Amino acid sequence: MARNRYHETPARAAECLRQALSLMTRQPTRPHPLSYAVWYEHVSGHNAALSAEIERITAGGGQLDEQETERLYRTHVLELDMQATQRVAAGFRSMLGEVVDSARHAGQHAEQFESALERWQQDLANGAGQDATRCEAMQADTRGMRDAVAVLQTRLQATRDEVDRLQRELDHARAEALRDSLTGLANRRAFDLQLAACLDKPLALHSSLLLIDIDHFKRVNDSHGHLFGDQVLKAVAQGIQSCVSLGQLVARVGGEEFAILLPQGGTTAAQLLAEKIRATVAASRIRRRDGGGTIGQVTVSVGLSALRSGDTPDTAFERADRALYAAKHAGRNRVTVAA
Ligand code: GH3
Ligand code: MG
Ligand code: MG
Repeated sequence: MARNRYHETPARAAECLRQALSLMTRQPTRPHPLSYAVWYEHVSGHNAALSAEIERITAGGGQLDEQETERLYRTHVLELDMQATQRVAAGFRSMLGEVVDSARHAGQHAEQFESALERWQQDLANGAGQDATRCEAMQADTRGMRDAVAVLQTRLQATRDEVDRLQRELDHARAEALRDSLTGLANRRAFDLQLAACLDKPLALHSSLLLIDIDHFKRVNDSHGHLFGDQVLKAVAQGIQSCVSLGQLVARVGGEEFAILLPQGGTTAAQLLAEKIRATVAASRIRRRDGGGTIGQVTVSVGLSALRSGDTPDTAFERADRALYAAKHAGRNRVTVAA
């Protein structure tokens, strides 16, 4: 249900990646994860409906702009996640239906049992009836009642197991929807939710936003290939993660861009953390797994912005982004605080 639907072998996945990148870069859309997801789905052949739409659009010489790409993503990629949720909901509904049926069945038996008891009581009061026959009938009714209750219990137990299973799947699906599959960090969606929640509270005035971007990452890809680029992304993600305290959320918010929200502590603490992250990444040596030795120094630039009253997620991001740009402009491998 919430399982990852990409089951390609590494070689096939690499081929899909190559094809997706090649097709994607011919479009006017920026190469962001959303656009990549659309093209990957298309070339991997997972998504017939999406492929049909892409072919329809491109057949007439059309291209996929930002809007069209986002629409395709929502309709054909995101929608699959929605369908998983709907399946879980349908599962719950059908199980509840069964429990209601079993309960109704047990209820009917209880009613029959009650009227049998009433009849027996009347017969006893009237001094009528043959006791032995009556007793047998009562025993049969009691057995019927017991069986009905046993069926209900078994069904309830099965239902409870199924509810537990669905709950676990739902938890898993929810966690996956907020996770970046490459690095295991939180993804953009998770970060946006956290930032919006933080901006809703007065506490936001002591909060800071860090935007961390790998320097010259394109060169890493160009010199060592995209697959190795992915390894570098993972290593940098781990390096950043190792600097933060428990409970601080690190997210991958773009291709080679990470963000951290510090809900408290003010700018000084945020600056210290940013510097620690910068130094940790700069000091790390990333090895090629194929024995190709270490690659040159990988560094990051960091833009830091203190959240202000009246900020929206967009204005907070824009300010951090401007600070990041200034850090790049000033020579990279440095931290800049937004003015
Ligand atoms: P700058 O120092 O100015 O940030 O330079 P840069 O090369 O890092 O920045 P630019 O935005 O020019 O290039 C970012 C590159 O990141 C281009 C893109 O191919 C790569 N990239 C984005 N997402 C991924 C990914 O998931 N895997 C890999 N391997 N590369 C990625
Ligand atoms: Mg970069
Ligand atoms: Mg970038």
